[in-house]
Amino acid sequence: MDNSAFHTELAELLFPHIDKTPEYYEEMYPARELPEGARVTRFAPSPTGYLHIGGLFGALVDVLTAKVSGGISYLRIEDTDKKREIDDGVSAITNGMKAFGVEFDEGITGFGTEKGNYGPYTQSRRAEIYQTVAKSLVEKGLAYPCFCTADELSALREKQEADGAAITGYFGKYAKCRDLTLDEIKANLAAGKPWVLRFRSDGSEDRRIMFDDMIRGKIEMPENIIDEVLLKSDGIPTYHFAHCCDDHYMRTTHVIRGEEWISSVPKHIALFKACGFKVPKYAHTPQVLKFDDETGDKRKLSKRKDPEAAVSYFTVEGFPKESLIEYLLTIISSGFEDWRRANPGVPAMDYPFNLKKMSSSGCLFDLVKLNDVSKNVISIMNAETVYERVSEWAKEFDGEFYKILTADPERSKAILNIDRENPKPRKDIAKWGEVRDYISYFFNEYYVSDYTLPENIAPADAKAILTKYAEIFSLDDDKDTWFNKIKDMCAPLGFTPNVKEFKQNPEAFKGHVGDVSSVIRIALTSRRNTPDLWSIMRLLGEDEIKRRLSDACERI
Ligand code: GLU
Repeated sequence: MDNSAFHTELAELLFPHIDKTPEYYEEMYPARELPEGARVTRFAPSPTGYLHIGGLFGALVDVLTAKVSGGISYLRIEDTDKKREIDDGVSAITNGMKAFGVEFDEGITGFGTEKGNYGPYTQSRRAEIYQTVAKSLVEKGLAYPCFCTADELSALREKQEADGAAITGYFGKYAKCRDLTLDEIKANLAAGKPWVLRFRSDGSEDRRIMFDDMIRGKIEMPENIIDEVLLKSDGIPTYHFAHCCDDHYMRTTHVIRGEEWISSVPKHIALFKACGFKVPKYAHTPQVLKFDDETGDKRKLSKRKDPEAAVSYFTVEGFPKESLIEYLLTIISSGFEDWRRANPGVPAMDYPFNLKKMSSSGCLFDLVKLNDVSKNVISIMNAETVYERVSEWAKEFDGEFYKILTADPERSKAILNIDRENPKPRKDIAKWGEVRDYISYFFNEYYVSDYTLPENIAPADAKAILTKYAEIFSLDDDKDTWFNKIKDMCAPLGFTPNVKEFKQNPEAFKGHVGDVSSVIRIALTSRRNTPDLWSIMRLLGEDEIKRRLSDACERI
């Protein structure tokens, strides 16, 4: 029997139920009709029910890379590792993407739903495709069944280690099942022995391969020599084989994935070639790192230690999607900040992203910087938007605040509008979860008085200020009149309206106009620092102002 007959018979023996050929899938998933240079990218997470910030970061790189080139990005679910899976592990991923506005053109859209012509986009639904390609590899003599047990494999590894082998694994002379005869295989199958399908590598220890990583440049590595497992004993593919089949039939041009996969590239190139598929371009993204609070060293963001490792954290805290995306882009791409300065107000997703401008060392994720970016982002939103976004957040995460905030929408919008919509807006809200405390003094349901005075102001003077102020304030005053009244109060009470004068001769006065305003501010809001007090007073209303002034007078 010549070899090809042997391989054909073996293929039939192993995959009797497979009647399709790779050509069938070539036709079913034709080359995409896209403009020259268009890139097809994919985000391919495992459905663990958790979206890591590094996942959002990777997805953003996928989507932008496709978008700037006029290409396609899609979401594929890699659920071949059943151990890591949970019931609906998909929604956390799709919800996280939706919450932050990262949209794929095609692929999985939710638990059990998808769109696009290159599906199914869930690996567990693609078994027939993998087995068809596997069968064709057996027919070409490029794959074979291996019956070695787990014990045999660990014995092999121990022996290799004892021999001081430079490479351990199933290859060359150690690959016991490589040359089994058809009769031996038949006997094993008849005896019900479990088997995996292995790749028959023709790699050599002396050869090296070179590939061009889109982020890291040229990388040279030893060629793959391992007879890698393609299908596990349950017929499910390994990551390596599924990657090769899926990225080929889904017509991915650029495989963008985490740097932990770099070492597997020689294996993947060998597999693509064996299958007769074009090798895609690779880009390996750096990890998301942070400075450890205790050691001060950079380390990976950890699911266990860092709440901010989960994308859901940012939803719960109420970071606007624009802020997180804006911040991720500043750490992902070295050109982003310059672009932002030149293009204020343009949506971040319009950034002309370039893989080559990504740093290959880790991206440092810093919550403090995210807060700063977010304050900027929120400061330029109008009050209407802020109101809508805060209410949306509160509806889900703080029902009580939602009721209070939405009871009088116009008043709430006016509150949120203080010191906003002007050339120098205040930058003091970083996330929706902070808004309740930020504006709580406007709502009696939350207001807790605290009339602690600055040390330089005597209680008796404060009382005198408040008594006088209660007599003279009027909500009809425009801002200048309002402030002039406060200035006019100063001299009779032993303060000066002139800060400069006070600085030149501090002994001569009890304080200056700033101290007088401070006392009024504290009495009305129980805070030392607030946005514009004139605006605050107009929203508190006359009765509430009088009530708070007299309450403060009594209790100071
Ligand atoms: N499913 C793989 C993972 O979860 C994805 C790797 C890839 O993007 O190819 O890491």
